[in-house]
Amino acid sequence: MTSTALHTDAAATDEDARPVNPATLEPLGHVPATSDAELDELARRAQAALKGGWSTDSRLRAEVLHAWAQSLTAHSGELVAALVAETGKPVTEARIEVRGSVDALLYNSGLARYLGGRAGTLPDGNVAHLVREPVGVTTFIVPWNWPALLLLRDLAPALAAGVTALVKPAPQTTLVTERVLALGREAGVPADVLHLVVGGARTGHAAISHPAVRAVAFTGSTHVGTQIMRSAAEGMKRPLLELGGKGASVVFADADLDAAVAAAVAAAVITAGQMCMACTRVLVDRRVYAEVLERMAAGVRALRVGDPVDDATQVGPLISPAAGERVAAQLAAAASHVRIVAGGQRMQVDGLAGYFLSPTVVTDLAPDSPLVQEDLFAPVVTVEAFDDEAQAVRLANATPYGLAAGVWTSDVGRAWRVARAIEAGTVWVNGWNKSYPEMPSGGYKSSGMGRTRGVEGIEQFTDLKHIHFSVPPVAEEGSRS
Ligand code: NAD
Repeated sequence: MTSTALHTDAAATDEDARPVNPATLEPLGHVPATSDAELDELARRAQAALKGGWSTDSRLRAEVLHAWAQSLTAHSGELVAALVAETGKPVTEARIEVRGSVDALLYNSGLARYLGGRAGTLPDGNVAHLVREPVGVTTFIVPWNWPALLLLRDLAPALAAGVTALVKPAPQTTLVTERVLALGREAGVPADVLHLVVGGARTGHAAISHPAVRAVAFTGSTHVGTQIMRSAAEGMKRPLLELGGKGASVVFADADLDAAVAAAVAAAVITAGQMCMACTRVLVDRRVYAEVLERMAAGVRALRVGDPVDDATQVGPLISPAAGERVAAQLAAAASHVRIVAGGQRMQVDGLAGYFLSPTVVTDLAPDSPLVQEDLFAPVVTVEAFDDEAQAVRLANATPYGLAAGVWTSDVGRAWRVARAIEAGTVWVNGWNKSYPEMPSGGYKSSGMGRTRGVEGIEQFTDLKHIHFSVPPVAEEGSRS
């Protein structure tokens, strides 16, 4: 690797990863950053591993992904504890994350043997064969909020397709990622197919820019996603970008309000609101606006904010005090133009030094308020009223994002019309946060590019080749002599 390829000094390294428990603020460990020289070595070895049996033996890949799933299940207690310690998410959510990670591996273990290709005869009698081949070494850059599930959501289909990988976790969640990858190797992922790369933005850029790397799967903010796309453009690396969101739940007066409010409250505070698919906005038919607002406020006040290791906890700390102070400043800046109906305060949780924000409901907002427009990544939900279906759709679409949305109504025709009109990669009718390895997900507009999960997800990690056979006509018997 040359320093030109990385725009960096070959002897330099990024900052080491020093994860901290977000609830206690105690340090959890120290993992040295990958140096540029080490990264070069890992990328070359990953490139060489493409020539081994991994990329051609789909049965091996299916078996290994299956064994990895079993290993995660066998180690789930340990992984749950590691997720809680590094992310601060409630233990109940960490269990869901491990189960979802297992499910991603199991589904893609089956898909590994699906990529058969297609053949056909052309109008001129010649024959075409389409084959899918692994795209090559792929770099995975992962955020800290769902570090195991979001990694395996993309890595499992990529490995199923036969790629080899460099994995760069967020520094905050380096330890749990290291463990998940180690279990993969123990389950049979061959040497050099999978490498951990440690560091922050500098290492991430280097891991995309290396000449051996052909694709990047990035999950994170739209701001960084834009930088990733620039880095990827340099060497024409294929980008898969899963970015920020500002999901709206659109509640019509004929909806089951109990279900709509319960789902909105739960989805507003999942991972303390630090989730791309959190429900961050509720748009309500004006006829039931006051009722829904009151119920939302009561709902968030009843939530149990506390120690994430406790089974009864529903909302844990923000990832860091710095993140908490950023959100507090955003709420303070908006305070004179909006009405904070519930929450909005830092909370002290006995014996814990982390930053806990009381779940927050805000209303009386202008549509261009930063609280409505920005990916706050906090347990803050806005409530706005609409007068008719057209206005509901306009408000739902009036942010730069388009990741996920919900429609609540008992009118099937309206559910379909609104779902079609909303600009988002996923629209749930009478539900929220239903994700499956079978169903592709991804963003419209500034929420990303490409789709992960499903058959579409595995195809993202392949190149499609057309092999053409020219079939000459049968020669006349006599002309041979
Ligand atoms: P982030 O964008 O700050 O960082 C994500 C990853 O990118 C980290 O591993 C980080 O070290 C790395 N990185 C940062 N700058 C980089 C650069 N210039 N080059 C290469 N790598 C770089 O995001 P975060 O704070 O970890 O996560 C929160 C964000 O992720 C939110 O905006 C959220 O909406 C989004 N998110 C999206 C999805 C999705 O599926 N669409 C899922 C989860 C989170």
